[in-house]
Amino acid sequence: KIKCPSVSKAALRSINKTRRNQSPINIVTRKTLRDERLTRFRFDNYQQIFRGTIKNNGHSVQVGVPILSTISGGNLPTSYKAVQFHLHWGSNGGPGSEHTIDGEQYPMELHIVHMKHHYTDLTTALSDPQGVAVLGFFYEVIISMTVWKSNLRAHHRRSAKHQNGNTSLHSISLAQLIPPEHNLTTYYRYKGSLTTPGCTEAVIWTLFENPIPLSMEQLRAFSELKFHNGKQMVGTFRPVQPLNGRQVFRSGGAVVLATSALLLAAIATALGLSQTN
Ligand SMILES: [Zn+2]
Repeated sequence: KIKCPSVSKAALRSINKTRRNQSPINIVTRKTLRDERLTRFRFDNYQQIFRGTIKNNGHSVQVGVPILSTISGGNLPTSYKAVQFHLHWGSNGGPGSEHTIDGEQYPMELHIVHMKHHYTDLTTALSDPQGVAVLGFFYEVIISMTVWKSNLRAHHRRSAKHQNGNTSLHSISLAQLIPPEHNLTTYYRYKGSLTTPGCTEAVIWTLFENPIPLSMEQLRAFSELKFHNGKQMVGTFRPVQPLNGRQVFRSGGAVVLATSALLLAAIATALGLSQTN
């Protein structure tokens, strides 16, 4: 498990006092607040195929995004460009996501890390409290007869297994990694931090409700990966952190409000009430 940051107990106590917006968290769905400003995302150039570079960063397997793919909408303050993506998983297909939903840990979680479009490096973006936007996706195990479309896993096994250096990945697009856009309208939003050192509190988190399907065999393959020191790369997640009074928002308010507004209008008409606006 990733402990972050690795310091003495005394230092950790003082950090815990000042750092109150840490990630990941457990999301209690009945305590989330519907926010109709959480509109659909706009994904620009998510379809472009690129050859990413796989890096075993000692916490996970990370793939750099060398092209300009951006997200906007979803009540983000500006547009953000993709920098890298990586995964968090457990051991042999067991629990492994970082965020939990109503206490449930999914087997794996994908993070696509973005920074505000005008920044040129992540370090600078992290000095801005809203500099980074991470899109998080959960995986669920399904019984599947089809072969995984992505070649990511095979590549992980071949390339990143024992190596410290960078390895080139077969051609891939960000859109290939995630569910189709129409399945990305329901999500959770909160303000948090990176989940790897130094756990900087500069992240706008978005966690999509619909999980990505994966077969158990595909999931187990991740347990074959190794850290630099030769140890099995398993349990690559940070435990959930205290919420400290933060509100978690959820999308989808507009649809429900529109429906109930129509219903109210229908009732008002039926009762012969006039509407002032
Ligand atoms: Zn992550």
